[in-house]
Amino acid sequence: MSVNIFDLFELAGQKPNAISLGLGDPDLPTPPHIVAAAAEAIRAGRTGPTATTGLPELRAAIARKLARDNGIVADPDTEVLVTTGGQEALFLLIQALIEPGDEIIVPDPRYTSYDEAIALAGGRMILVPTRVEDDFALDPDEVARRITPRTKVLLLISPNNPTAGVTPPEWVRGLAALAVERDLIVIADEIYEKFIYDDALHVSVASLPGMAERTITLNGVSKTYAMTGWRIGYLAAPASFIRAATALKEMVNVQAPTVSQWAAAAALDGPQECVEEMRRIYDGRRRMMMAELDRMGIGYGRPRGGLYIWANVTSTGLTATQLSYHLLDEEDVLVLPGAGFGAGWDDWIRLTILQPESALREVATRMARVIERHRRAG
Ligand code: PLP
Repeated sequence: MSVNIFDLFELAGQKPNAISLGLGDPDLPTPPHIVAAAAEAIRAGRTGPTATTGLPELRAAIARKLARDNGIVADPDTEVLVTTGGQEALFLLIQALIEPGDEIIVPDPRYTSYDEAIALAGGRMILVPTRVEDDFALDPDEVARRITPRTKVLLLISPNNPTAGVTPPEWVRGLAALAVERDLIVIADEIYEKFIYDDALHVSVASLPGMAERTITLNGVSKTYAMTGWRIGYLAAPASFIRAATALKEMVNVQAPTVSQWAAAAALDGPQECVEEMRRIYDGRRRMMMAELDRMGIGYGRPRGGLYIWANVTSTGLTATQLSYHLLDEEDVLVLPGAGFGAGWDDWIRLTILQPESALREVATRMARVIERHRRAG
């Protein structure tokens, strides 16, 4: 059974009461001080165009944030580019970086938007499997084995989507050492960095010795501040790379939306307690869902970061695609099957923790019913 995630989204759209654990879109509201800053920008008429690289106030806020939270030194005038969401950042950076035939090492399973961007640039994706035994962290030894003379880039997404894997500091250091030794560029997608659980630690690879000049850090406000629809992301990288990405951005959409840029500046410069509050809410939901999965006899990679749970459905006797369709047809619940995150992963489903706890409990009840029904039938 092949999967078309758009087909699942379309079916879910026809069910007004469906509970969606589909998109990675935070359900919590954007914090009020950020909304107020956007409203103030509108009222004050600060709605005109900005530089393609972004509003100077936002670039300065990003540079302060990178220094404060990540130990990354970036010149706001030359080493930061504000983008229309992390998604545009991802697209621009791959187009600016990859030449036809270049190899880019990508952890598997994966956020497949990278596949599309790499294919468009004519790059070759070299997949590195991540494993449940490692809680889906990226193992430097596995990466080392796949480096060839054509390897140009290593993609590190931590915490990761869909696996919720966090690559621990010693492995991040191992990956950095490899990058220096084998002269690789590292893309560090840190969009989920603020959602870290248990004893996991997040380290920004660009902060490690010798890495600033070979790392492109991608981040944004969508996940951290529940601002998906505001469409603000950013890149921090050496000036020559930022120049190349900026030239492309100018052709694509000139600049990120001005009002959203004011909101993002308020998010990064303002009080950060809201982020910890959201993290605590997500953590509570995550623990609750793990307990529910345990009750159902469904395994999962320990979700140490991010907004997802990557669960193994082998014990149901169904593929993930079959289970996803049954869940939607019979119980009005949307989850995404692993096949949407790479070939060979259709024993896994991605659950989000982006619904209130009551809705997640209801999802668990409905999932248990579907599983029970099909375990019996099988
Ligand atoms: N990178 C990863 C790994 C993601 O999962 C996403 C969105 O889900 C993005 C980048 C892009 O996020 P946005 O465009 O909302 O900033």
